[in-house]
Amino acid sequence: MRPIHQLVKNEYQRLHRQSEMIAEERKIRLTNQIPELKSAFFELSQIGVKYSKEILKGSISAEEATKTTQTAFQKTDAKIKSLLAENSYPEDYLDTNYSCSTCQDTGFMQKNGPRCSCYAQIINHIIQNESDYKIFENQNFTKFNQYVYSDEENTSLYGIKKSPRGQILAIREKCYEFINHINKPETKNMLFIGNTGLGKTFMSNCVVVELLLREHSVYVTTAPSLFEITSGYMIDKEAYSDVYSYIKQCNLLVIDDLGTEKMTESRYAQLLSILEIRKNNDLSFPCKIIMVTNSSIKELYQMYTERVASRIAGDFSAFKFIGNDIRIIK
Ligand SMILES: [Zn+2]
Repeated sequence: MRPIHQLVKNEYQRLHRQSEMIAEERKIRLTNQIPELKSAFFELSQIGVKYSKEILKGSISAEEATKTTQTAFQKTDAKIKSLLAENSYPEDYLDTNYSCSTCQDTGFMQKNGPRCSCYAQIINHIIQNESDYKIFENQNFTKFNQYVYSDEENTSLYGIKKSPRGQILAIREKCYEFINHINKPETKNMLFIGNTGLGKTFMSNCVVVELLLREHSVYVTTAPSLFEITSGYMIDKEAYSDVYSYIKQCNLLVIDDLGTEKMTESRYAQLLSILEIRKNNDLSFPCKIIMVTNSSIKELYQMYTERVASRIAGDFSAFKFIGNDIRIIK
């Protein structure tokens, strides 16, 4: 999965270039049609040149030059506008029409300033168009359907005194709380447990989309892929440094399919190190984790060393998904 901030940046650059290209094409077409317009644009391009020559010669001061240049620009600009009007084009026909006029397709209100409100649209565009993110089109809170979960309690079968529907609604509520309080260090990470087909990955994807729309950075991976990266990093630091630092610093790291990987001593150490680094980061900026597993808590304890297991027990709230395989019901 490619980091979202890179894709967001690419998309803004694409929009920015596209708007400028359209403006440039219009200018070329119109200056070919209207010769006076061509000479007006030539005049415009020569203003700066003309006065910088005069400054160099010493015949005019820099201050005077700025003033005269401004006047000359305004005059030529007015000429261009009236030529456009004479030829039945709107005055701003040759201006660059950014898809967002507020940020001129840069994504920021000012340099290093707050994000522009068009950010959510860009995220949606990425979800619709980037293969890594396409899955989120159908896996977000708007597609959540409580009715695929039974409303019948069965304590002896599920081990808790709640119907599958009651439980999934409670989990969704906890997810909203997690999202709304992601900035707080006291908000615990989430551990989704339960059998296959009960909507664990769906729910974690819902959280991902919501956080992306709220301008957070997210990295979604499976435990086997995560260990490929961490092991790769041990061997070739340079090749893996970008993705590894993203894994350490993104606002939410999702590790799906936990418990399916082959555990070795060095992998325990790698997982522990990621958990510790992120816990530490979380004191300064949101650095949460959602882990998704088909294994039970008991199995996780058996699978991992005491240190990993107690870290998971201490820093994660566990949520048990119950019911029948909803993929079959659907
Ligand atoms: Zn904008």
